[in-house]
Amino acid sequence: LNSALTSATLRIGDLAGEWDRDGALPPDLLHELGAEGRLCAEVAEEYGGWGLSSMLSGTYTAHVGSLCSSLRSVMTSQGMAAWTVQRLGTPEQAAAYLPRLTGGELAAVGFSEPGAGSDLAAMTTTVRRDGGSVVVDGHKKWVTAAHYADLLVIVGRYEDGAAAVVVPSDAPGVRTERIADPLGCRAAGHADVHLDGVRLPAESVLGGYGLPPALLVTTALAYGRISVAWGCVGILRACLAAATAHAAGREQFGKPLADHQLVAGHLADLFTAEQTASRVCEHASRCWDEGAPDQVVATVLAKHVSATQAARGAAAAVQVLASAGTQDGHPVARAYRDAKLMEIIEGSSELCRLMLARHALSLPG
Ligand code: FAD
Repeated sequence: LNSALTSATLRIGDLAGEWDRDGALPPDLLHELGAEGRLCAEVAEEYGGWGLSSMLSGTYTAHVGSLCSSLRSVMTSQGMAAWTVQRLGTPEQAAAYLPRLTGGELAAVGFSEPGAGSDLAAMTTTVRRDGGSVVVDGHKKWVTAAHYADLLVIVGRYEDGAAAVVVPSDAPGVRTERIADPLGCRAAGHADVHLDGVRLPAESVLGGYGLPPALLVTTALAYGRISVAWGCVGILRACLAAATAHAAGREQFGKPLADHQLVAGHLADLFTAEQTASRVCEHASRCWDEGAPDQVVATVLAKHVSATQAARGAAAAVQVLASAGTQDGHPVARAYRDAKLMEIIEGSSELCRLMLARHALSLPG
């Protein structure tokens, strides 16, 4: 893992600001990282992955997230696609798709639609059997990494439930439309995906049968949630490093900013945020690695706490750096924009709170 962390530092370096301003990650770098299995590091070695535990994968995700949230977002999508294939696919489908995801092809996962954001039960995309084929029709919105993807894992209504289907992005009837100027993660390749009569072999449906929509969505999103949570830990670490360095180095009123107690208070809050987010993510990953029954709740808790803390912590970092941190492309300015999006995706903060409240209500008195 240490060599992977060093390699990420060297390859990303201080380029994230430039990628953010350009609104694009270098495709060669993405394919290279993909071919080294670095974009979905939990995939088993037999499929060309690294077979990392959730804890080690989380450590790696946080490190990439501390350097570039756009690249971390692409990793989250790739990992979520691989996880969905692994969990829902047959052994034959795992053998067919996973080596492609560790071999340089890029993937994205589409749930959201114009009329189905938080309420994914309102999805209208359909996957319809037609002889030995299936036909996919629908419109997916805001799909992270879809602009770069070779394979799209699309969730739609199927038979009397829902299914995830693997759609090559160059299949006839598929059209991706880049989202212009997103608030944050500007290089993550968000795009809308239009699917018009896309005909695919029936074996493209993962598992081959329909599942209750809520079960399918929860299964697929679980990976996205823990990955985003660790990415938020990375945002907090980058903000803490920038804020402490600035507060120690710049003087106002004849002493370092850090010696003004109100500024020191921001640093204490940022440290608390980073530590809190790290601990909830470690707890969730431990649950994943042990297969503990609390895994689902621990993951929602990690996502909610980390995203909320990252949004607050990034705002505090901008406050400490003040004018020095308010220029577009500065790490804390970028973190401020990126972190806000983390409160919206993979289950917004409101949806997470509802799930946590439901869990609290189910606990024995
Ligand atoms: P809405 O559902 O319209 O919600 C609006 C507001 O109302 C939110 O604050 C929400 O929390 C609140 N709200 C809604 N219902 C309730 C309720 N019952 N109780 C309380 N509050 C409620 N989608 C994908 O499929 N794949 C991706 O890769 C992907 N990547 C994304 C990346 C980014 C940067 C963004 C911004 C979005 C991405 N999305 C993706 C879409 C994302 O999943 C949705 O934006 C998200 O689910 C919220 O849906 P919405 O934007 O339609 O908001």
